[in-house]
Amino acid sequence: MDAREGSVTFDPTDDLVRELESVTSAIRLRREKRAVRTKGSYATIDGVPISIYANIGRVEDVANAIAAGADGIGLLRTELLYLDRQTPPSTNEQSEIYTAMFAPFRDKKVVIRTLDAGADKPMAFLNFDQEPNPALGVRGYRTSLMHESLLKDQLEAIAQAEVSSGAEVWVMAPMISLPEEAENFVALAKSFGLKTAGVMIEVPSAVMLANEISTAADFLSIGTNDLGQYLHAADRESAGLAHFNDPWQPALLRAIHAVAQAGKANNCPVGVCGEAASDPALAAVLIGLGITSLSCNVGALEDVAIAVTSLSSANMKQAAQAALTGSTAKSAKRLAREHLGNVTALGL
Ligand code: PEP
Ligand code: MG
Repeated sequence: MDAREGSVTFDPTDDLVRELESVTSAIRLRREKRAVRTKGSYATIDGVPISIYANIGRVEDVANAIAAGADGIGLLRTELLYLDRQTPPSTNEQSEIYTAMFAPFRDKKVVIRTLDAGADKPMAFLNFDQEPNPALGVRGYRTSLMHESLLKDQLEAIAQAEVSSGAEVWVMAPMISLPEEAENFVALAKSFGLKTAGVMIEVPSAVMLANEISTAADFLSIGTNDLGQYLHAADRESAGLAHFNDPWQPALLRAIHAVAQAGKANNCPVGVCGEAASDPALAAVLIGLGITSLSCNVGALEDVAIAVTSLSSANMKQAAQAALTGSTAKSAKRLAREHLGNVTALGL
């Protein structure tokens, strides 16, 4: 039984048994390992620091993120707190919840995302008109066009929670398509006293305009789940279209590379907080592509940390360059893996 693939093979061949035995011993080896931290940070074997944050959505996730060794929070999905509500939470209620979630990260970074309502995250209290294509409709930052007070109340609550918690709070908006949206969001966030404001890169127009957007924002965070969906025009929730949403797809890798380069040119940090950052081998490729921080699922964090701390930065760059030459998800992965021997040896 291969739990990685979710497959059961009856009467396995000797070759398959040997292969699975070697994977099992690699997993055992990994279990005995802990990612090394130097000077309070994860680092490549040549000493380049790498920040690895956790994606969380509920108060209960905070303790797990800390136990997994997160440097902080890289994506706090605020909508998960309100999915089953009939009325929007008050500013005070939000501020209390955010304070509880930020407080364990005193002096550490917490990246909180403003409400990403709509499409795969419907919210009863927003009463959207019936839209024929909700994923292309009023969702994410766009909801503030109709419900500006919702965004303002949230920013006020986040600013209050920053002060009362002592965490270093970065705030970002989801589903930004245009530079002027980034400019408006950053100005609005700062008007509430929030010092660091950025945006998510999740749609193709934002990739094409990454130069302008990285000038307007203090940081970028690439949401590879939505970016993969919109690049390939393939619903992320459709099981039948899952291959388009493989995070090794070349179009996605090249888009990430373009955004990382734009960020570098404008001195704007670029993180990845989509599922791509939770795949240990791909996380190494992302660093090689120029991504400056990773934010992954709590369950994947330790493996991601072990993978990136087992490699040199030169290795990761070579793997990234190789992946960029792939014309399919499979070949991109295979080409990258030629430079990721240390990761493969750990069964990752
Ligand atoms: C993403 O789209 O990659 C992302 C991180 O946001 P979500 O999955 O919440 O849409
Ligand atoms: Mg998204």
